[in-house]
Amino acid sequence: MTIQAKAKKSKGKRSQWIMLGFFPLIAIGGLFYPLLGYLMPLMMAFLITNSYFHARYWCGNLCPRGAFLDIVMPHFTFNRPWPRLFNRRWFRWGVFGLFMSVFISRMIATGGNLLAIGGVFVNMCVVTSLIAIPLGIATRPRAWCSFCPMGTLQESLGKLGQRHARAKRMASLHAQRPAATDSTSTKHNSNP
Ligand code: SF4
Repeated sequence: MTIQAKAKKSKGKRSQWIMLGFFPLIAIGGLFYPLLGYLMPLMMAFLITNSYFHARYWCGNLCPRGAFLDIVMPHFTFNRPWPRLFNRRWFRWGVFGLFMSVFISRMIATGGNLLAIGGVFVNMCVVTSLIAIPLGIATRPRAWCSFCPMGTLQESLGKLGQRHARAKRMASLHAQRPAATDSTSTKHNSNP
């Protein structure tokens, strides 16, 4: 990739520029106003629902941290390949399991306190960003996205959605076929 192409890539999409502001808003603003953490479950609800139909559309277009990694990080990265381990299925699901167990135990510990719940979301955003940023500098901007728990979930839901869509298409094709055969045979039979 040429330097010009790289620079062009680091500009990001328009939708990413719009979403970029949510990243410091949650990760920094949330430290002072934990209720800002509630933006995360709203985004998560959207991305999970959307991923069934459009796989990782969220990641490439709307994720605030993804936008940060695409727009800001290319200026600081060493741009070296990340370890293959990050792409391994067991590793990705291991990270997913680890984050979910920490998340659930932290949620239980809040005892239903609204501010504390918001704080849990903010902390998750801060911790994951503290992993994503150094990794992006040391390897490539999107290294974190190769095993991000939300990315892993979206990919799986996207595959599930595609499988269901394919099954539906096949079922409707099968349903149309006998009808087509019937009309052909009727035509043949009606010929003298
Ligand atoms: S993989 Fe995670 S951090 Fe990366 S764009 Fe997707 S949701 Fe955002």
